[in-house]
Amino acid sequence: EWQERFGHEGTGVLERLRAVAEGSGSITGADVRRVADELGWPVAAVAGAASFYADLTAPQGLRHVRVCRGTSCFVSSYGRNVAQVEAALGLRCGMRDPEGIVSLDGAYCLGHCYASPAALNGSTPMTGRRLGERLRSDTEAEVLAQPIPFRAASRQPVTLAGLSGDAGEWQVWPETVSSGDPTSVLAEVAAAGLRGRGGAEYPVAAKWRAVARGPAPRYVVVNGDEGDPGSYCDRLLMEADPHRVLEGLALACFAAGAHRGFVFVRSEYPIAVDRMRVAVAEARSAGHFGPNVHGTGFDLEIDVVQGAGSYVAGEETALLHALQGLRGAVRPRPPYPTSLGFEGHPTAVNNVETIATVPWVVRHGGIEYARMGTPEETGTKLVSLSERFARPAVYEVEFGTPLRDIVEVLGGGLRDDRELRAVQVGGPLGGFLAPDELDLPLLADALADAGVALGHGSLVAIDRSVSAPELLRHLWSFAAAESCGACTPCRVGSRRGLELAYRLAYTDTAETEHQHLLEVMGTGSLCAFGRGVAGSVRSLLRVFSHDFGSGVL
Ligand code: SF4
Repeated sequence: EWQERFGHEGTGVLERLRAVAEGSGSITGADVRRVADELGWPVAAVAGAASFYADLTAPQGLRHVRVCRGTSCFVSSYGRNVAQVEAALGLRCGMRDPEGIVSLDGAYCLGHCYASPAALNGSTPMTGRRLGERLRSDTEAEVLAQPIPFRAASRQPVTLAGLSGDAGEWQVWPETVSSGDPTSVLAEVAAAGLRGRGGAEYPVAAKWRAVARGPAPRYVVVNGDEGDPGSYCDRLLMEADPHRVLEGLALACFAAGAHRGFVFVRSEYPIAVDRMRVAVAEARSAGHFGPNVHGTGFDLEIDVVQGAGSYVAGEETALLHALQGLRGAVRPRPPYPTSLGFEGHPTAVNNVETIATVPWVVRHGGIEYARMGTPEETGTKLVSLSERFARPAVYEVEFGTPLRDIVEVLGGGLRDDRELRAVQVGGPLGGFLAPDELDLPLLADALADAGVALGHGSLVAIDRSVSAPELLRHLWSFAAAESCGACTPCRVGSRRGLELAYRLAYTDTAETEHQHLLEVMGTGSLCAFGRGVAGSVRSLLRVFSHDFGSGVL
C-alpha cells in the first residue's frame, strides 16, 4: 500500500533535501516540486518534510554553525551561551549573513555535555570557553578531538561501552547465524531481562517476538536519534564502537526474522554518522551482512540514514516517519510499529544502548547479565554526567545504584566546590531532584514514584549560578521549539507555557493558568513529549519553589 501510494522508498529523501539546502542555501517551492516529481511523490509529502526539519528550514551559508541549546550548555554559561555566539557572529539563530558566507542556528543538543558549552562549526565540534570568539575567527585550534570520557563502575567488568579489551567485534554473530536458530538469541535476551534503554523500558525479547510473529517483510531500526539534552552515551557507543552496534543489530534482525536493518543517526552527531557508515562498509566487506551471510543462506542488508534535525523524531513513530522521508510527527499508538512500522510492515525500534548490549548478552548468557542490577531491573545502564561535575563522563552502573553514589562518588560532586541546587535526571522530559532526594536508586519505577523519568540516563548538575525562572524558561523554550505539532495540548500548550514562564518570573498572576496548562498537557498530550514536559516542569517548580515570587506556587 505504501509503495503504491508513493512508488519509492523514502529513506533517501532527507538526504536529497539536505543536498538541496546545503547546495543552494535554502529549499524553494520549485525545489520541492522538482524533488516530488523525481520521486513520483505528492508535492505535499515533500513539502511536509522540507518545512519540518531544522536542517532543511534554516538558511545555510558556506559555513553553517550550530550552537548547542542543551541544558548542560545553558547551565555552564549561566544561560548566555547562545547569546554570546550570536553576538560574536553578528547573527541571530536562524539567520545567514548577507554574503551567504556564515549561517547560524541552534540545536537541542549536540551531545558534548561533559565539555559545555558546545557548537558545531560545519561538522567540526568545538567546546569550551570563548566559543563565540573562536567561531568568529574560525579557529579550530581547540577543536574537541578528545574521546568522550568513559568509566565502568559496575561490580563486574561488563564493558558495555566497548572501551576495554572485552569489547570485541563480531565475536558471536558468525556462530549464531550459522546455527540457524534465532530462538537461542530470543531466549538469552529474555533470560537477561533486557528492557529498552531509550526510556520506555519495554522488554526487548517480547518486542522481537511480536515482530517475528508478523508477516514478512520485517525490519529492525536502531534509534540513534538520542536527543535528550544532557545525554551523550549513544554518541559514545556509535563513535567508539560502531561494530558493537552493528553486531547487535544483526542479532536483532536474526531474532526478529528481519532481512533489513537501519541505523537512524541524528544529524547533530556528524562523527557518529561517518563512523557508522564506515563500519557498515567494513562489516559488509567482511561478510557479516549482505546476501548469503557467512554461507548460511540468510540475507541481511543494513543501511545508515541521517536525520535532519528534530528532537521528537526520536519517538518511535516519528522516527519511522523520518526514516521514510516524511515529517517527523508522532502518530497515535496502537497500532504499534511491531505490527505497523516501516512502510507499513512489522518493525522493531530499539535504541543504541539496548542494541549494543545484545552481543554481550548472547556471548556471556542472559543469566549472567541478569545477575547484575536488581530483580526488578536487571543489568547496567550508561549514565551521562554533565560539565558541572568534577568528573563528567559516561559511567556504566548497575541498576539500583543510589543516585548519591553516582553524583558524589563517581561524579566527584561539583567542580570548583560549587554548591549543588538540583540534578536534572532524564533530560527535559525527566525531572529535577533536590540534593536531599538523591538517595533514590537508579530504577525507573523508584524515580517515577518521585515524579521523575529516567529517560536516557542523563544527569545534569544545576548549581547556584542558575536562576530558577530562567531554567523554567529554558525548559519551555525547548518544548515550544521541539513539539511536533501533532496534538493541540502540546502544540499550543508549549508556546503558552513559554509565555507564562515569563510572567511567572515577575508575578503570581499566572499561577492558576500555569497549573491548568500543566494539567491539560500532562493528561491530554498524545505522546510522552507533552506529558513529560508537564511532569518535568512540575518537578522544577517543586525543587525551586523558593525561587519564584512569594505566593506564586
Ligand atoms: Fe507531538 Fe507534542 Fe503531541 Fe507528542 S505531545 S504528539 S510531540 S505535539
